[in-house]
Amino acid sequence: MSECAIVGINWGDEGKGRMVDLLTEKFDVVVRYQGGGNAGHTVINEQGKFALHLLPSGIFRKDTVNILGNGVAVDPENLWKEMTEVMDKGVALTPENMKISDRASLLLPWHRALDELEEKRLADKKYGSTKQGIAPFYSDKYQKKTVLAGELFYPEELREHLAGIMEWKNLTLTKVYGAEPYTMEMLEEWIGTYCEKIKPYVCDTGSFLRDAQKAGKNILFEAQLGSLRDLDYGIYPYTTSSNTTAAYAPIGSGLPSAKISDVVGVVKAYSTCVGEGPFVCEMFGEEAEKLREAGGEYGAKTGRPRRVGPIDLVATKYGVEVQAATEIALTKLDVLSYMEQIPVCTHYMVDGKKTDRFPFPSAQNKSTPVIEYLDGWKTDISGVRRFEDLPEAARKYVEYVEKAIGCPITYVSVGPERDSIIYRK
Ligand code: GDP
Repeated sequence: MSECAIVGINWGDEGKGRMVDLLTEKFDVVVRYQGGGNAGHTVINEQGKFALHLLPSGIFRKDTVNILGNGVAVDPENLWKEMTEVMDKGVALTPENMKISDRASLLLPWHRALDELEEKRLADKKYGSTKQGIAPFYSDKYQKKTVLAGELFYPEELREHLAGIMEWKNLTLTKVYGAEPYTMEMLEEWIGTYCEKIKPYVCDTGSFLRDAQKAGKNILFEAQLGSLRDLDYGIYPYTTSSNTTAAYAPIGSGLPSAKISDVVGVVKAYSTCVGEGPFVCEMFGEEAEKLREAGGEYGAKTGRPRRVGPIDLVATKYGVEVQAATEIALTKLDVLSYMEQIPVCTHYMVDGKKTDRFPFPSAQNKSTPVIEYLDGWKTDISGVRRFEDLPEAARKYVEYVEKAIGCPITYVSVGPERDSIIYRK
């Protein structure tokens, strides 16, 4: 039996989806334990190319059971749209292979509206929300002002519960933002059009997981976004509104007794960041443009160009520590093949002092990167499948990163396809 988590080490978009898709072969169950539809995992396999937002990346394996845990923001509208899209491409999603926790809270129709209204109010001071309603959702969840997916099985109580929350929420919508109030008719329409569609998938996933654990099944916990977006350990307030770190997996999955023995941290061979906030190693101009183009760094959900930079060993080491990563998957090494010399951010300068410690968020805007250059390899490595077959400079790059972050790199990914991978264990 093994319980393993796959997490992002940096700002997200490290290629977690592609790693989960690869590793699910060994797992019976894949559980998403936090976040909502505000991120995109890109998965390319023999069934096609998919941009997953809420669905666990194990849905492409025939015998894998996929679960949206209680820590996830379940948006019935977007989830159903995503499920329909995936099913239209021939992927089977049945209540047997796809389950939604009855204890997951539902993202309600006004959560996305509130995100829009708040970003508008903030104008140029905005934080770069993806406007998926995630922050309003989690604030309401912690205020106990949303409903659980399992309440769909109790229609009378559900309507009464929703009416009470709506009355409260309409005060904010109308009095704070001057927006239109919601009505029960609107909620009825939402229930009928979306909630009823996902209802067959809702069940007691907690007991399912406990049984799976007892039966010695292999369980994989899938995170969304990266360490630096964790609500408690990330670059607050430029974080998401949930915990992306592996330590949250037992709580958010619905298996509090999970003993996660293996944490696979996904690190990209260079850095990218979506949205606002400090990004110390950021590159600009033509150099940045080239890297962005080479890596296709545009958001899977929003299409926004991502900010790019060299690998940031300061942030990555911190990410490895807060995730308690036991091994690393280094992705997109092939993207660096065009570079003569490869920049690496080894330290930060903070208040005139050189440091390899990740600074407190407020100090990051005043930090500057210390850059060193390693030799490039200038060869296409996308067809390489054995570490020893990589050019020497590429091997040195991997070994240099490994030493700096203090965690073994056990996978090196050299292309987006499932088999474009080098195993190092
Ligand atoms: P996630 O949210 O962490 O899963 O990451 P994204 O899906 O947003 O971004 C990863 C992107 O890189 C996707 O388009 C993947 O298909 C692609 N990708 C993943 N690994 C590799 C790799 O090793 N090489 C290349 N060239 N692309 C990769």
